[in-house]
Amino acid sequence: MAQDVLVVGELAGGAITSTTAELLNAAKSLAEGGAVAVTLLGSGASGAAAGAFAAGAGKAFTSDDAAYDDVRADQWAAAVDNAIGQQNPGVVLFAQSPVGRDVAPRIAFRRNTAAAMDCVSVAMDGGAFKATRPCYGGNAQAVYSFTTAPAVATVRAKSFDAAEPAAGASGETVDLGAAPASNIEIVGMEAAVSAGLKMEEAPIVIAGGRGLGDADSFREIEALADAFGADKATTGASRAAVDLGWYPPAKQVGLTGKVVTPDLYVAVAISGASQHMAGCSGSKMIVAINRDKEANIFKSAKYGIVGDWKAVVPALIEAVKAAK
Ligand SMILES: Cc1cc2nc3c(=O)[nH]c(=O)nc-3n(C[C@H](O)[C@H](O)[C@H](O)COP(=O)(O)OP(=O)(O)OC[C@H]3O[C@@H](n4cnc5c(N)ncnc54)[C@H](O)[C@@H]3O)c2cc1C
Repeated sequence: MAQDVLVVGELAGGAITSTTAELLNAAKSLAEGGAVAVTLLGSGASGAAAGAFAAGAGKAFTSDDAAYDDVRADQWAAAVDNAIGQQNPGVVLFAQSPVGRDVAPRIAFRRNTAAAMDCVSVAMDGGAFKATRPCYGGNAQAVYSFTTAPAVATVRAKSFDAAEPAAGASGETVDLGAAPASNIEIVGMEAAVSAGLKMEEAPIVIAGGRGLGDADSFREIEALADAFGADKATTGASRAAVDLGWYPPAKQVGLTGKVVTPDLYVAVAISGASQHMAGCSGSKMIVAINRDKEANIFKSAKYGIVGDWKAVVPALIEAVKAAK
């Protein structure tokens, strides 16, 4: 049954984020012939609309008001709610990002409906919207259906592929006007200490664990990421390594860290505890390097290398460089 789908878009460097493009592609199939609309808020929003049309949107609700750049959840919720009022979508999709985490539940509350958070899949099943999300620390998956509308869901990055951008695509732009007053005062901002690609968006994540032995050994993990290329790969860590002070907390993967879904996740000297796997089990391919052939990580790995990382990682670096 055709229904309209609204994607709450996010911007980076004046263009839609890769996750927004992925959600727009997912929205096309969920709409089953209905309209796909997007909200774009903040500096450069109307300029980014062309990218959203190329990615599958037919309509963009935009506001270039720079007040949206700091993402005060009450202002964003008001703008998204305004777009919902105009479009009346059956489904509203957010990225599982700081924006989605904060704004999606507010939209569900305002619209007297429900939000499924941290989904790895959303689909239509016999005319009903279904959202799938991991539960029990990633050991099981729960499928949710909605009895209220609109269905609100936040979806992890890389759960869907983005469509090839459609050349010359165009759409309708609706101006949402200036941001309303906010009750939120931002008293300070601190940039996370993490250079290069965001872990959640990187196609390749090389993660190190306690088995590395010390903080300096993470330089070798970084060298492997560098060998793939700074535009493709970044590094991560297990909580044990972070707790030991070997790597920054912003780089922790897992239940109490970040959830990553790269094309390739290389786990170096990580045992594969369920709390770690909760953050990386959605990876398209896991490669594990561990000297213990019984390590739990090998149950999830497509390729496993049993051996000392000190011998394996330098050899991999050379192999990756040679393959370029
Ligand atoms: C509530 C809760 C939340 C948690 N959240 C998280 C989370 O978000 N993320 C997370 O990662 N953990 C989390 N944990 C901790 C988790 O349970 C594990 O303790 C942790 O993931 C272990 O990290 P590790 O695999 O690096 O270390 P270990 O379990 O100590 O494993 C080290 C591995 O390195 C291998 N190794 C050792 N030397 C070498 C070598 N020379 N070459 C190759 N392999 C070697 C060993 O065989 C071993 O498998 C959480 C725990 C709890 C209770």
